[in-house]
Amino acid sequence: MSEERLRIAIQKSGRLAEESVELLKNCGLTISRGRDTLYGRVQEMPIDVLLVRDDDIPAFVADGACDIGVVGENVAEEDRLAGARETPAELVARLGFSRCRLMLAAPKEWAWNGPASLEGKRIATSYPGLTRRFLAAAKVKATPVMMKGSVEVAPRLKIADAVCDIVSTGATLDANGLRPVATVFESEAVLIRNPASFGPAKQTIFEAFMKRVEGVMASREAKYVMMNAPRSAVPAITEVLPGAEAPTVLELAGGGDRVAIHAVCRESVFWTTLEKLKRLGASAILVLPIEKMMA
Ligand code: ATP
Ligand code: MG
Repeated sequence: MSEERLRIAIQKSGRLAEESVELLKNCGLTISRGRDTLYGRVQEMPIDVLLVRDDDIPAFVADGACDIGVVGENVAEEDRLAGARETPAELVARLGFSRCRLMLAAPKEWAWNGPASLEGKRIATSYPGLTRRFLAAAKVKATPVMMKGSVEVAPRLKIADAVCDIVSTGATLDANGLRPVATVFESEAVLIRNPASFGPAKQTIFEAFMKRVEGVMASREAKYVMMNAPRSAVPAITEVLPGAEAPTVLELAGGGDRVAIHAVCRESVFWTTLEKLKRLGASAILVLPIEKMMA
């Protein structure tokens, strides 16, 4: 009997690809790719990796060709809104990378008076579902015009009046005489799964994998903070440490009223945090990265 393996779809190349592989790497998973450029095999867990175009990932996952996938939430949500599938892929986790915005952009010469300015206009976009939802919420009647790529040239070509597209720096829009006017959707990479239940073997692999993903996500911001401080300052210091549970308080050799305080902070530790600690009497403050974490 062949061993059951969990199949994950990731983008082959593009803005999601590198960090998707990095996520697997941080989960302790290395992908070995043979001559086959479509398939990779994970060594450390029974997982196969399918390397594909990002547009195909929601369909592959919804149909069960793959069990899970990493894709932009913009693409996953657009697929869901298109309603082409009885049961679309389910969102399991937000992954915190490939952040971007889907934005409406209008010709610079327009006097923008909010979404009402779009009444009766045509809007070129690769995201007609998300665009329609935004327009409906704003109670504006406008027509999305589907374009697969080079959306920003549509107004110049008189194919549309405005556009709704992914914006990072806005330079492409600017070069085409457009300016961003409203945010339609804020996106980041997400993990999606097939909505049908997995068999017990696959479910076990999935749960083990998710534990690692959660660990990677948790440890990304988390820091191990150490310092020496007066014993009397321990309660005030605990208040200041971001997202920390009860810290460990240790005796320092030689006694005295100073102790060592160690804590895991689950949220970002900023310079301002260190300055506050200093004011509370802390010294020798160290902030260390945490490589792995499991609750
Ligand atoms: P493919 O060849 O796989 O179809 P693509 O050209 O459609 O790739 P990419 O440009 O690689 O797609 O973008 C993939 C995803 O990355 C987008 O759907 C979005 O979620 C995210 N993304 C897009 N633009 C940016 C950006 N400027 N910065 C960060 N992330 C982005
Ligand atoms: Mg694509």
